[in-house]
Amino acid sequence: MNIEPLDQELRQKLPSPKGVALAIMEACRRDDVSLGEVASLVQADPALTGRLLAQANSAAMGGRPVASVPQAVSRLGLQAVRQLALGFSLIDQYTQGACASFDYPGFWSHSLLMGLATKELGSHFRRVSPDELFSCGLLANVGKLALATAYPQQYGELLTRDAQGPELLQLERQALQIDHLNMSGALLADWGIPVALLEPMLFQEDPGQSKFRPDSRPWQLARVLHLALRTADYLVAPQMEHSDQNLQLTLLASELGIGKSEYAKYVDSIIVQWHVWGELLKVRAKTLPPFEEMSRGELRPDQEPDSAWLRVLIVEDDPVVRKLLETWLRDVCKYTVQSAGNGQEAMAAAIEFKPQVVLTDWRMPIMDGMELCRALRASDWGRDIYVIMLTSVETENELVQAFDAGVDDYLTKPVNVRALGARLKAAWRYVRMRSAWERDHERLTRTAAELALSNRRLQRAALSDPLTELANRRAGHTALAQAWSAATRYAKPLSVITLDVDHFKTINDQHGHSAGDAVLQRVSQGLRAAARREDTVCRWGGEEFLVICPNMGLREGMHAAERLRKHIADLSILVEGTLVQVTVSLGLASWEAHMTNQEQLLAEADKALYAAKHGGRNRLAMTSEGKVRVLS
Ligand code: GH3
Ligand code: MG
Ligand code: MG
Ligand code: MG
Repeated sequence: MNIEPLDQELRQKLPSPKGVALAIMEACRRDDVSLGEVASLVQADPALTGRLLAQANSAAMGGRPVASVPQAVSRLGLQAVRQLALGFSLIDQYTQGACASFDYPGFWSHSLLMGLATKELGSHFRRVSPDELFSCGLLANVGKLALATAYPQQYGELLTRDAQGPELLQLERQALQIDHLNMSGALLADWGIPVALLEPMLFQEDPGQSKFRPDSRPWQLARVLHLALRTADYLVAPQMEHSDQNLQLTLLASELGIGKSEYAKYVDSIIVQWHVWGELLKVRAKTLPPFEEMSRGELRPDQEPDSAWLRVLIVEDDPVVRKLLETWLRDVCKYTVQSAGNGQEAMAAAIEFKPQVVLTDWRMPIMDGMELCRALRASDWGRDIYVIMLTSVETENELVQAFDAGVDDYLTKPVNVRALGARLKAAWRYVRMRSAWERDHERLTRTAAELALSNRRLQRAALSDPLTELANRRAGHTALAQAWSAATRYAKPLSVITLDVDHFKTINDQHGHSAGDAVLQRVSQGLRAAARREDTVCRWGGEEFLVICPNMGLREGMHAAERLRKHIADLSILVEGTLVQVTVSLGLASWEAHMTNQEQLLAEADKALYAAKHGGRNRLAMTSEGKVRVLS
């Protein structure tokens, strides 16, 4: 295996860790580095601290919960800490970039899945530590990000051709003399990732190409990475593409000795962790049903199923008839068939076998066909199974009973196999329509949920001020109208405080507009911190704010406003290396019985604010019964 070292000029252009992560990586290069030293570096970065604690406490680690960074570092080990710091640092820095057709958030979403899948599936073998597996998977495709970063133009053009697998690798080599796999390898080698993890990673797309000894550690790891890659691809793909892949995935898993239901459990756990870590790393994760459910939507509407797709459960106490039906349906019609000797056996078998059609005799010992049908209809999973009843005598009375019990169709004995074939065709059509409907329904429900979520996001965006994250003027109007109607209806006190930053123009003039923005952000945080929980603080415009204080009368309002004034005056705001001090002027007014609407209340507060400015600024003024007083 040959991984070319990176040349200096290229290295300058490639993604690289920064800040605390870089310091940790450098410290770990030294032989004499101590756990304590790394722990104190970690503590310099609150986000990294939180993420490492979460990792140390994740289910894979077991044991008692750790609460301190030194404990977390010693539980994870230096190697894992440096790799995790590296990964997290890259995620934070490269959420966007210059390559137009490279989907940066999508890349991290997929990489996170790949990391989690490598960790989960790799845990099956217990040969590499889970945290190293996680970061190995997370960074296994960092070569793609690197190509997009180093060659935004060329790689962007190349990506528009939509090539996959070997074709993409080939295009990359033609255009850029290196493909993303080798790029990942070179970068990870440069970052000091052990060769034992690196080599298998180069074969993640086609482990069959490697010359690793079967069942050796690298052989297994390459296959784990391949399955993790395919799993991640599967989970980010649109739902409609799932149908033809899940069988292949279970086959790949079984090559590694992972059974179908075990694999489904791993996938479900990967999805859950994707959401947890997505939140922590600000990486997007999709809402998905359990794997079981995804693999049930086996057929696309445009696909004609082969007959093995239809699962028929035969329930018949007479062994001769049972054998005959079984042979006919399995060997001639090619359906997937199981059989049971009575209703009770059928119920037990149906849970595992999940038939779409039950073909049942009526008269049987222990539990007859009618009871079986009622039991199926009473269960959650049996409600929609297509039930065909075999009857000996066809009397009207009995038929009514059968349909009442929930039977879909019937056939008289002795069974005419051709008639049975025709009835099953009808059943097949019904089942197909039903599953197409369920798929559409599921998709619609999901779309509706996504829409509701994005509506909520839009709503939040429409009501908050992007710079300060406070309520904006529109939201302020609504809050004031609500507070007003609550106060007047129940004759409860209500105060409002208008604020204006003093000489704010000077701050802009002296330090620049973006420093001015930073000051506005700090002032907003200060106001939020000094106000009560139930108060609404909003940005009324420019450097003006409004604080709405429900259930607060004039006396209490004076204390509250004075607290705001002092809090802001005491702030030392650090912008671009210099300390800036600001003050605010405040106007206070409270609801009085003669006021007819909230605009009057606001106008009173504005009057007071005007007086506070004229009184010399950094002051509080109030109005009461038409009189204005400057207080401080
Ligand atoms: P006074 O004490 O009389 O209120 O003086 P002032 O300088 O604060 O008042 P003025 O109304 O003359 O100036 C307000 C300034 O606030 C002018 C405007 O450029 C600035 N400003 C308004 N919105 C923003 C903003 O979002 N960011 C920044 N940086 N400046 C803003
Ligand atoms: Mg019978
Ligand atoms: Mg102003
Ligand atoms: Mg001002």
